Amino acid sequence: MLLAGDVGGTKTLLGLFTPEHERPEPTVVRQFATLDFESLEAMIAEFLKQARQAHVDAACFGVAGPVLGDAARLTNVPWTVDAAGIRHRFGIPHASLLNDLQAMACSVPVLRPDELAVLQEGDAVPDGNAALIAAGTGLGEALLHNVDGRFLPAPSEGGHADFAARTEREIALLRELIRLHGRAQCEMVLSGPGLVNIHRFLHPRGCPAVRSTDDHEAPAEITEAAMQHRCPQCVDTLDLFVSAYGAEAGNLALRSLATAGVYIGGGIAPKILPALEQGGFIDAFRAKEPMQDLLAAVPVKVILNPQAGLLGAAVRAGEMGERS
Ligand SMILES: [Zn+2]
Repeated sequence: MLLAGDVGGTKTLLGLFTPEHERPEPTVVRQFATLDFESLEAMIAEFLKQARQAHVDAACFGVAGPVLGDAARLTNVPWTVDAAGIRHRFGIPHASLLNDLQAMACSVPVLRPDELAVLQEGDAVPDGNAALIAAGTGLGEALLHNVDGRFLPAPSEGGHADFAARTEREIALLRELIRLHGRAQCEMVLSGPGLVNIHRFLHPRGCPAVRSTDDHEAPAEITEAAMQHRCPQCVDTLDLFVSAYGAEAGNLALRSLATAGVYIGGGIAPKILPALEQGGFIDAFRAKEPMQDLLAAVPVKVILNPQAGLLGAAVRAGEMGERS
């Protein structure tokens, strides 16, 4: 039996999977409020008790924060996660931690066509690399290096790289972000809080369509107001977001030479799929002279499976179990 986890700042998914030929199959998956527990070990103990499962062969957890060997300190959660402690306490022979985006990247090779929405068909190069970009609470980016026909997911902290403004309006937004924060990181534009930043910038006198001011509720209100055309500035907000998202996905494709495909993960993309399909995303993705032809051939797909991170962690757990 495999144990997988997707540990986020707000919610955590834990699942038991059986190793199958094509990909691990879930037998039970539960969602927990992360801060209801004092540690990941306490949450695992509760989950295994509920699931009446005492024996686990291999475990892997994607965590929202940088991973150093067996340990990870979570961003936004006062926990330190320790894989050695988990191996010892639960008698699991193999347990490891991955950065959450690296875990999601592990799911990419096993995603099924009905779990993906195609933004650009392209023409995949079989021995090319792939890449993953995911806007949600923050912005995550991961690379899938193709080594001898096999994808090796590698983490990054690309969301904290500098925001590359392209238009007069984005340059004005960049100036405002630098004035407020000292520097403009990609995720200050491309995330839920990023949507709120753009919205504030384009609505200096407030917005009639969005009541919420907090970073959890406001992004969904903004994108709904935009997609229902209830406020012109909300429409502008979403347009700027979609175009900047496509441009950053294109930057990632160039830096990783992701000729096998760019995958769009995270919670925002499936909610704004009609806006992503309208063309602004792919126009910005391709508009990188002299590399337009290369980028026009890159398959671009949105991940629709909301549990891709958990599935990826199970894939990695299965690989560790196989090697033993
Ligand atoms: Zn508005």
